[in-house]
Amino acid sequence: MDTATMGAYDDVRPAPRALATEAVHAGRDDLARQGLHAPPIDLSTTYPSYDSRGEAARIDAFATDGADPVGPPVYGRLGNPTVARFETALARLEGTESAVAFASGMAALSAVLLARSATGLRHVVAVRPLYGCSDHLLTAGLLGTEVTWTDPAGVTDALRPDTGLVMVESPANPTLAELDLRAVAHACGSVPLLVDNTFATPVLQRPAEQGARLVLHSATKYLGGHGDVLAGVVACDEELAGRLRQIRFATGGVLHPLAGYLLLRGLSTLPVRVRAASASAAELVRRLAADPRVTRVHYPRIGGAMIAFEVKGDPHELISRVRLVTPAVSLGSVDTLIQHPASISHRIVDADDRRGAGVGDKLLRLSVGLEDVDDLWADLDQALGEPTKVRVRTAEAARTAQRVRTADPVG
Ligand SMILES: *Cc1c(COP(=O)(O)O)cnc(C)c1O
Repeated sequence: MDTATMGAYDDVRPAPRALATEAVHAGRDDLARQGLHAPPIDLSTTYPSYDSRGEAARIDAFATDGADPVGPPVYGRLGNPTVARFETALARLEGTESAVAFASGMAALSAVLLARSATGLRHVVAVRPLYGCSDHLLTAGLLGTEVTWTDPAGVTDALRPDTGLVMVESPANPTLAELDLRAVAHACGSVPLLVDNTFATPVLQRPAEQGARLVLHSATKYLGGHGDVLAGVVACDEELAGRLRQIRFATGGVLHPLAGYLLLRGLSTLPVRVRAASASAAELVRRLAADPRVTRVHYPRIGGAMIAFEVKGDPHELISRVRLVTPAVSLGSVDTLIQHPASISHRIVDADDRRGAGVGDKLLRLSVGLEDVDDLWADLDQALGEPTKVRVRTAEAARTAQRVRTADPVG
């Protein structure tokens, strides 16, 4: 069969394999048998069929449980074989039955909220901090949901009969605060827990193994990994995946097939990228923590390539001075990015709520890329500005030199 006209492509389920192997092979297991090496990109918006009775039955089946149609997808909004490859691979990496891809991380979160409120469960319990726009979507109730913000210990008490979702991020954007996911999952009882795993990626943490029923990614970040794809994905069990596909079909937040291709390609280097960038991040954390111009460094126990730090001086000045590091929002790219959350990623969150969640005005968020760590440090070092302590030392050294010269006119 030609892959370009298949729906959920012919997925061969191999024996369990290590993460690094899945990253390279998941979603591609049928290729060699088809005489292909790179996955085909299927750009079709529609799929011809001479059997309209058959199409009616397939659409009825989708309306019932949202299962991926067997065979061609009927229409591009219902599914796409290239995107399906990425979904299969991500589900494999997160250890879930299924995954459903969307046009962006926010489209993915919107679909989850709509799927839950469609069952009458419009109340959400959430723990701050969350990514700024996620916070905004919940706080503003844009999709008709109502949120109760709490701390991890307060989750059980915050649950109501109409609670459809508990939502957390760990490590959280931008403070890198970590939660005991197992404990939070336990506190949720029968209410599904959604963990935004964008920062950790399945390389460092697999929330489904700790009790999360939904694992969300802004695939724009590490999964794509090169700053050139906007995408979102939810990994979950097949029952919830069916609901999410139905929402996606009805609301249209689909992922473009080319983006699906780029994400699948991104996944193949995900473990290598995350480990290499994490090693540099750990080294930068050591240097930042020892620097008198830095007042605080936040770095999660599970590691990773994200760092948050607070500066003694003006964070805006630092942003204006970086040269190798790119001053930009977003994260998870091969190149290093820095941004000021209070001005950009979390600007949309009310200032008091933002500060209450630990996102202070001196906080900077650094997404460490794959550059040489000494080059990165050299840039950060000059961007941090006049090293106050070193300047004192330099002045002392100058005075000492002066004294030495005064004492020894010959030298
Ligand atoms: C960026 C981000 C999002 C939103 O994803 P988009 O792809 O930008 O829509 C959600 N959660 C986290 C943790 C993020 O960093």
